[in-house]
Amino acid sequence: MRRIRNFFAGAFHDTPSTLDNVNPATGEVLGTVPDSDAVQVDQAAQAARAAFPAWSKTPIAERARLLEALATKIEQHTEELARLEVEDSGKPLTRARTLEIPRAASNFRFFATAIQNFHSETYRTEGVGLNYTLNQPRGVAGCISPWNLPLYLFTWKIAPALAAGCTVVAKPSELTPSTAERLCAFAQEVGLPPGVLNVVHGSGAKAGAALVAHRSINTISFTGGTATGAEVARVAAPLFKKVGLELGGKNPTLVFADADLNEALPACVQAAFGNQGQICLCGSRILIEESIYETFVEKFVVLARNLVVGDPLDPATQQGSLISKAHWEKVRSHVERAVAEGGKLLCGGTVPSLPERCKNGYFLSPTVIAGLDPKCRTNQEEIFGPVATLLPFRGEREVLAIANGVEYGLSASLFTTNLGRAHRLAEALECGTVWVNCWLVRDLRVPFGGVKSSGVGREGGDHALRFFTDPKTVCIRYSDEVPA
Ligand code: NAP
Repeated sequence: MRRIRNFFAGAFHDTPSTLDNVNPATGEVLGTVPDSDAVQVDQAAQAARAAFPAWSKTPIAERARLLEALATKIEQHTEELARLEVEDSGKPLTRARTLEIPRAASNFRFFATAIQNFHSETYRTEGVGLNYTLNQPRGVAGCISPWNLPLYLFTWKIAPALAAGCTVVAKPSELTPSTAERLCAFAQEVGLPPGVLNVVHGSGAKAGAALVAHRSINTISFTGGTATGAEVARVAAPLFKKVGLELGGKNPTLVFADADLNEALPACVQAAFGNQGQICLCGSRILIEESIYETFVEKFVVLARNLVVGDPLDPATQQGSLISKAHWEKVRSHVERAVAEGGKLLCGGTVPSLPERCKNGYFLSPTVIAGLDPKCRTNQEEIFGPVATLLPFRGEREVLAIANGVEYGLSASLFTTNLGRAHRLAEALECGTVWVNCWLVRDLRVPFGGVKSSGVGREGGDHALRFFTDPKTVCIRYSDEVPA
């Protein structure tokens, strides 16, 4: 049995009470996770606060070296980390090994370089003097991440915070704690000073809430659901904390008749069902121009039906299990409601047949639903599972109304060969990222975040480094006159 422990002040610590860590693909209890509360959060915050003065003054080159060393450790342990991620989350091993764990290493490498190129501003005020800025690390950063891309999103916050000179108290999801614990061991091995990285495990309601409310933690970087984000904002606002919120989505994929369907179809399937539809950026509403609707639907359903659902450890598996029994039940209830709302189930909605090892797991076949009104709850609420709806549209005006007619605004994908249309719609779509003729192509330098109920602020590149620092303006007055 695995026993996950908290990590603070450079050492691992047990907690009086624990939660079960369950493999959702098998139902097996893997071990225990700390059920931390305000006491452990306070211990971690004190350690982070004590470490801040020295870490914030550590030369950038040395901070970068330590981040590079963490990246190397992750790369050296790719297989182990990928398997831990699979056991915690039920995602396909191939995905974890080839995409998510390498991205966690890239997060550290990227910010090791980015911090060395992070520049400040200068403004010469003629006749008066010179202004310049100092980018000063804010202090102790609280980093809270979800279960869907565990180490990938955890490190996406921790790497820029550490690079910027902040110390960190981080909380991964209680459902996916294992790779976060390994990262703490790597921090010890590479010689990250005690207190610089601290990890508190436990539930959002207890450990997460205590972290957000802690007075020594003045910066909160949160990724998770919109309702939780609203609660984080409510608690943090009167404490004047700086808060970044990366929240949910109900992202549209727009397919025009002039699109190259050979490229668009597999991309739409990937966008809808990647990681079992459990990615905030998943294109769960597919809007198809009326003239190609029938053809598109027929081909899309064949591709969705052919996705291999199975044991996450099997290299042939393309779709693993959902994250937990509770989430599986929630997603299935969404499918039932879609049918009650008049939706036609074109495929999925059922539990697939599985190998013996996975008979108690939480699997759902890729589900495609048509015939629903854009305003119904199925087309308005985030489902966060392998469920996509198909909607026909006529012309740009109508598709924009449908695409933008939700409370969310995270991302959109657009498939067209009409250049003018691509630019026009990219500007008009209400979201943080528009992908044209692709989906989830990422460059770590670009701003990443949402509008409307999908969040506040931007991650990525300099945006992340600016988030974890405050610019201080220094104004130096001097005379322009050269003395005789
Ligand atoms: P969640 O329930 O909001 O949880 C996110 C994190 O917040 C978890 O670590 C959770 O802990 C913690 N938490 C829960 N209640 C809290 C509270 N009151 N105070 C502080 N922390 C609290 O979201 P999820 O179900 O894990 O993740 C799915 C959601 O995340 C989806 O809506 C998805 O769209 C969104 N997401 C957004 C992005 C993005 O970049 N925009 C990326 C990925 C996912 P426990 O899980 O341990 O309870």
